[in-house]
Amino acid sequence: MLVMKFGGTSMEDAKAIDRAAAIVKSRLPQQPVVVVSAMAKVTDQLLATARAAGTGDREQALKLSRRLRERHYNVAGELLGTGLFTQFHSELESDFDALDELLRGIAAVRELTPRTTDMVAANGELLSSKIAAAAFSARGLKTKLVDARECIVTDDTHARAIPYFEDTKERLRAEVKPAVDAGRVPVMGGFIGATRSGTTTTIGRGGSDFSAAIVGAGLDAERIEIWTDVDGMMTTDPNLCPEARRIKVISFDEAAELAYFGAKVLHPATLLPAIQKNIPVYVLNSRNPTCEGTRITARAPRCRNLFKAIAAKKRITIIDVAATRMLMAHGYLKSIFEAFDRHRVPVDVVSTSEVSVSLTVDSTAAIPTLAEDLAKLADVKYEGRKAIVCLVGEALREAPGVAARVFGVIPEVKIRMISQGASEINLTFVIEEEAVPEVIKRLHAAFFSEVDPEVFE
Ligand code: ADP
Ligand code: ASP
Ligand code: MG
Repeated sequence: MLVMKFGGTSMEDAKAIDRAAAIVKSRLPQQPVVVVSAMAKVTDQLLATARAAGTGDREQALKLSRRLRERHYNVAGELLGTGLFTQFHSELESDFDALDELLRGIAAVRELTPRTTDMVAANGELLSSKIAAAAFSARGLKTKLVDARECIVTDDTHARAIPYFEDTKERLRAEVKPAVDAGRVPVMGGFIGATRSGTTTTIGRGGSDFSAAIVGAGLDAERIEIWTDVDGMMTTDPNLCPEARRIKVISFDEAAELAYFGAKVLHPATLLPAIQKNIPVYVLNSRNPTCEGTRITARAPRCRNLFKAIAAKKRITIIDVAATRMLMAHGYLKSIFEAFDRHRVPVDVVSTSEVSVSLTVDSTAAIPTLAEDLAKLADVKYEGRKAIVCLVGEALREAPGVAARVFGVIPEVKIRMISQGASEINLTFVIEEEAVPEVIKRLHAAFFSEVDPEVFE
């Protein structure tokens, strides 16, 4: 069995869905289970629609919803042709009528909660999976449309719900496995799930990759394929640096660090279920399906390059906490981290000296209240518009002089924090956000102008 996940751009229009159908067909003997994202940009648009309704702007919300309705009708019409679309149309119509009803309700009470936001946002994947399943059937595939809310069981942390793996596995075995055994291709939406009591949830932006991995692990798949719009994981974001090279093979640990520190091509949680079950993950290009992509596996071959890739994560805030009176006192770090925990703000990078601690967090609305809380312990300063740059490679473990080589390439760049050692395979530092493009270009030129042909293309 194989899980194939198609991202937003691989579902963006009728042509893309048609290509996806052909790719799925080419894998039929391996018994594919298909997980799809919403069509490109639809989740953003649904969230904008929900926000408009939340401010009481009913007309604007319904106008945005009408645009989404038209786009989905057009794509389904093009994929199915007039005959089939006539039957299918009423299904889409009732979904959009229900969405409009929900938007009217939100606008009437002028209150958008995380729970209702998830109910709106989930429509992207509910609709795209329905359309993909119908299109695949029309192209001769025996499909089964699966409602992800009946399989992916999560807690009720709306917008970033946490899956319950055991419950999910049981549901997948009951809902999805029999269809595969009967020679059908299950098609389900990523990103969405439901609580045990059936309330719709979402598992975080970009979360369809994670859904695919959860399904793969739950069904003991032989491989998980992430179909996207680039040839694989690259040595850096090809949008920032067109010279980026394809990585042919990379280890789970390396890829997980990259995903966590900004390589958007994979959702950071994707590899956890795959690692637990040792299922290889492939990143592939739906516009160039013959390219062999990137294989992510437990062990990667030795690589002559020091690094495998460079990632950058923007919209970071540095929080500096300094307390001279805490000199030599124990429990200081504990009380700092407890404050982060109380405000549910996750920390990425930490540097400490005797009395001051610098931490980075994703810039969020919770920072001012967190800082107020921390100010009870120490002096607190925070500053946004920072970025984390992370260089990853297993060769780092043994190589001497790494920091000198890296910082020698960017001698005039102001480095705000440095961290190396925690995972032994990355060197991470924090800079001003606007320096990112230049820093990435220079580092890439320095470390990837020549590449090991076994590992890169
Ligand atoms: P999808 O909609 O298929 O989930 P995403 O937009 O989430 O696709 O992820 C693919 C994008 O990730 C690429 O278009 C690329 O711009 C970006 N990206 C960032 N870092 C990397 C990297 N190291 N390798 C490949 N792509 C990257
Ligand atoms: N559609 C969701 C998003 O845009 C999930 C995904 O595409 O992975 O965040
Ligand atoms: Mg994505």
